[in-house]
Amino acid sequence: MAVLADLVNALRSGTVEVVDLTAPLTEDTPILELPEQFGQTANFRLEEISRYDDRGPAWYWNNFRTGEHTGTHFDAPNHWVSGKDLADIASVPADHLVAPAVVLDVSARVAADPDFVVTREHLDAFVAAHGPLPDGGWLLCRTGWSARTTQAEMINRDGDGPHSPGMSADCARWVAEESPLLGIGVETVGTDAGAAGGFDPAYPCHTFLLGNGKYGLTQLTNLHRLPATGAVLITPPLKIVGGSGSPARVLALVER
Ligand code: MN
Repeated sequence: MAVLADLVNALRSGTVEVVDLTAPLTEDTPILELPEQFGQTANFRLEEISRYDDRGPAWYWNNFRTGEHTGTHFDAPNHWVSGKDLADIASVPADHLVAPAVVLDVSARVAADPDFVVTREHLDAFVAAHGPLPDGGWLLCRTGWSARTTQAEMINRDGDGPHSPGMSADCARWVAEESPLLGIGVETVGTDAGAAGGFDPAYPCHTFLLGNGKYGLTQLTNLHRLPATGAVLITPPLKIVGGSGSPARVLALVER
């Protein structure tokens, strides 16, 4: 097939570059913090089985423990009560895992205001400048937040609670119900703003997107290496039957 042969040649020649949008998974990978009355997700942890030793002389391997929503990960619709009867992570169709992406750069605004939220007006301005949002594709919100690699920097908590960027409730509702998008991708530990527990509704990206069978991608990095339009994302999560999400190795194909 000519298209795939051309793609292979473009990858070899560097005409198409593979950009890794995935944060490294370690015990120190930042994780979401919910209000203290709720259950909390786990840090990633390797548990060594053997390392060329008397537990296994010629091999090294580990078990690992992780939250489904730890590190760069994919939110399935059934993660939220609004999508509880919709797809689990294993049921996300494979052809949704290779999809176009556009990048909305709000990093300068977030640098000035960590509670910045993307609104309909920002999406309208993006469409006016770059054309329609991709049908069945991702909107990636470039906030610069991936430069924050520690738990404290990522959550950015003060006496009022966590402060990190996100999306307004009205905009999340529009993305979920009216836009052609498959989902949104963010640099923060969750798709919603740090203060979104106090929005109406609370956690609107989760409520509206997952409730409409759409998806979230979190803790992306290297978004500054993507063009505003034209990238293709490859986002395979683990096929955890019944799972609500999974760490994912997220790659972008970018034409140079
Ligand atoms: Mn999640």
